Amino acid sequence: MQVSPAKGNIAARVLRGLRKLLDFVFPQDCISCDGKISERECFLCASCKADIGFIRQPHCFQCGVPADLSYAYPHEEFVCGDCRKSPFQFDQARSLGFYDTVLRTTIHHFKYRRQMGVLTEMDLLLEKYFTENPDFCQGFTVSPIPLHFSKMKERGFDQAFLIARQVARILKLPLEGGLLRRVNATSPQACMTRAERARNIKGAFEVNRPEWVAGKNILLVDDVFTTGATVNEAAKILKKEGAGKVYVFTLGRVVVGKGSGL
Ligand SMILES: [Zn+2]
Ligand SMILES: [Zn+2]
Repeated sequence: MQVSPAKGNIAARVLRGLRKLLDFVFPQDCISCDGKISERECFLCASCKADIGFIRQPHCFQCGVPADLSYAYPHEEFVCGDCRKSPFQFDQARSLGFYDTVLRTTIHHFKYRRQMGVLTEMDLLLEKYFTENPDFCQGFTVSPIPLHFSKMKERGFDQAFLIARQVARILKLPLEGGLLRRVNATSPQACMTRAERARNIKGAFEVNRPEWVAGKNILLVDDVFTTGATVNEAAKILKKEGAGKVYVFTLGRVVVGKGSGL
């Protein structure tokens, strides 16, 4: 049977479209370096995965920032200069890794390109992190940092909730999506200093049901810790309503000198 040129063109276009769709759902190349990935890898090649800098000791006992090893090796409960100067409202913050190239690309694919498949990659990273920290936050309730509904509408999903759900599953902790609500749509914070971010985020959260918060130890989860202003504001509101301990966990941590662009 002869295929007319017009029909052939349509078929080729459909095939190209399907390939594009397949590449989007199951990319052939690593999302970070564009190198080829093997069948067993999902979105990141082995060398990019190995490049993710997990944050381990020594770090600040309170905010979790990696300690500067240029001075005397800090003890386990060492508190950094920033925390000593102006302590955060949360008790402790920890992050999986440095928010530099690989982790940043991974988070962006998930957050801005809506590539939900990247969640499986994040799941593997979280499993690895919590295998090294199995007792993290036992007895806590996991609560994501909420998005304002206008952002939720624009983005179609809530990245902090999805990360919090994975964390709760791995640590076998209860997940409570509705402890906080975001009452103000805040301006984008990318270029702000810590003080500007703190002003911008002030009053952004409210507690939904104070009786759900009182006496509870809460683990707040977000995607990235930049200056800590957002999680600090959420912790302040939770503590005001009588929360016990408030800990923070984020996937990425911006550390000055470690690819801190957003
Ligand atoms: Zn790669
Ligand atoms: Zn600190």
